Amino acid sequence: MIFFYYRTKMNRRTFGKALAVMMGAVAFCPEALAAQKDITLDVYIDKIKGDALSASYYKKDHGVFKPIFDKVVDFYSEYFSMGINYRQGKVDEKLIKKNQIAFQYTTLNSLLNEPRKMIYSFGGKELIDELESEIQRAIKEQNWTYKQAESEIFGYMNRVLKQAVSGEGGFGSRIVNRAWMFPSKTHNEKAESAEELINAYAFVAVHEIGHALGLDHPKGQGFYSEFGQNNFMNPKQRFRDVLDFNLTFHHKQAENIRERLDLK
Ligand SMILES: [Zn+2]
Repeated sequence: MIFFYYRTKMNRRTFGKALAVMMGAVAFCPEALAAQKDITLDVYIDKIKGDALSASYYKKDHGVFKPIFDKVVDFYSEYFSMGINYRQGKVDEKLIKKNQIAFQYTTLNSLLNEPRKMIYSFGGKELIDELESEIQRAIKEQNWTYKQAESEIFGYMNRVLKQAVSGEGGFGSRIVNRAWMFPSKTHNEKAESAEELINAYAFVAVHEIGHALGLDHPKGQGFYSEFGQNNFMNPKQRFRDVLDFNLTFHHKQAENIRERLDLK
C-alpha cells in the first residue's frame, strides 16, 4: 500500500479516498465474500405446480426460503461461516465442490426421472456396477433385451428408493456434494404458524446438508443416540423439537466436517 502511494504520487487525501473505494469494492462484491466462507450453498428452487413454498421463491426476496436459510446459516455458524447463493434455473454442476454444496428443492419423482444419477448419488460407482451386473444377469436369465432389463431393474430400484426416502424430507449425498429437499405434507399440516413451518424445513435442510458434508446418522436410537436425542443428524426427532428448531450440533461432527473440507 505504501509502495503504491509513492509510485503514483497521490496526495494523502486522494490516497485515502482511493483506499475507501477499494475497501468498498471488496465489501460489496458478493463473489469475493462467498470465496472467504468455509461452506457455500448454491440454492436452486424448482417450480413445483401447486406448491406454495416453491411459488414464494419467485415472488419477492426468495420468499419463505430466505428465513429458512437464515436459520441454516445461523445453525452452522456455531462452527462454520456459510454463504448462500440464491440461484435461478438448472443446477450448475460445474460449481459443485466439497465446500460448495448444491441444494435443490424439488420432488422425489423428478429425481427418479434420472435414475442413474440418483442411484450414483445414493451408492456411488459400486452401486452402479452392481446394477449393471444385475441387468446382465436379467438379460441372460429372462432372455430380455438390455432396454427391457434396464427398465425392469430401474422400476424396482425406484420403488425401493421411494420407500427408503418416502417422498418427504430430503436426501443428502457426500458422493456428489449435493442435498435435496422435498415438499412435505406432514410439515405443511403439523406446523401451526409460519415460524414452525420455517423451522421444520430448516431442520430438513441442516440435516441433508450435514449428509452432503459427509456426516452419518449418529449411532444409537432416540434417547440413546450418541449425540443426544435432538442432535441435528438424528433422523428420528421429537416433532416438538423440530417445530421449535431445538437442535444441537456436536463438536465431533464439526471436527469431521473440518477434516473433510481441509479447514485448518
Ligand atoms: Zn439422514
